[in-house]
Amino acid sequence: MTNVMSAHATAPAVSCRGLVKRYPDVLAVDGLDLDVHPGECFGLLGPNGAGKTTTVEMLEGLTTPDAGDITLLGERWGQGHDRRLRQQLGVQLQETKLSEKLTVRETVRLFRSFFDEGREVEAVMDLAGLQEKAGARVGKLSGGQKQRLALACALVGAPKVLFLDEPSTGLDPQARLRVWEIVEQFKQLGGTVILTTHYMEEAARLCDRVAIIDHGKVIAQDAPAALVDSLGARQVITFTADGDIDQAELAALPGVRSVIRQSESWVLNVEQAGPVLPSVINALAARGLQMERLSTHQATLEDVFVHLTGRGLRDE
Ligand code: ATP
Repeated sequence: MTNVMSAHATAPAVSCRGLVKRYPDVLAVDGLDLDVHPGECFGLLGPNGAGKTTTVEMLEGLTTPDAGDITLLGERWGQGHDRRLRQQLGVQLQETKLSEKLTVRETVRLFRSFFDEGREVEAVMDLAGLQEKAGARVGKLSGGQKQRLALACALVGAPKVLFLDEPSTGLDPQARLRVWEIVEQFKQLGGTVILTTHYMEEAARLCDRVAIIDHGKVIAQDAPAALVDSLGARQVITFTADGDIDQAELAALPGVRSVIRQSESWVLNVEQAGPVLPSVINALAARGLQMERLSTHQATLEDVFVHLTGRGLRDE
């Protein structure tokens, strides 16, 4: 609680207003406003193509916006302080291409040399759990080890703000957990993190707040738990039926908070699945229908996205 209050009392570490980026075929970012407070982990959550990477690349000063204002640690890009600004940022791009021939230690040293001040190379390798692989060539590392090396390179300049673009995509659960621990340690030291992800578990675990992005716009923004609470439902029932049923009829059943049609499936946000299920089955039976593919789960950020858009985060 104290952290949240003190974070809000100070100027944002990163903020943008009316950010726009247009590519020939698509309006990738469509008027985005964000405020990221010092010491918080802020997540941009959204499906493929939502505009997350384009947004962070503009914040990082790698892509020039078509419109809008960005303030980072009290400075703006292109005002003569870009180098000083860059020295305070750690960036892990979605795909970091590191030289395969260098060893892990040489790579971290190389990145350290880009910064006037920073952390000890050995300490960062410890933090990233890379000491065992210090002498190994980058080309021989596993996916998880490469991702940890990319993180080590982003951390070695002792950044104030760390940008992570899908840091655990493609990693197995154990490797993902290790990446999360490294991010959490950075946060414990007071660092600010901006993270893009399409994994709800990652957003829920790491982020103090998330902005859900769709078609270049923020469609919801809050703490992960508050976003899930906004559904007004704790559990979700998903099923398909072997024929048509009226959405209003499902919505009128006791205990059902909202109903969404998501391609072939019905998605019911409910307080408790147990008491609602028999009445759903009865309503279907009254029309001579049967329930097919049924599942129930605790509500997550994914359900918030489905509720807001009628689509899943991984539909597109
Ligand atoms: P992902 O999770 O797949 O990385 P994203 O939310 O990060 O998706 P962006 O990579 O920002 O989304 O892409 C947003 C839109 O802009 C997409 O339609 C994409 O095809 C388009 N886009 C991104 N970069 C470029 C580019 N350099 N030239 C043209 N179009 C681009």
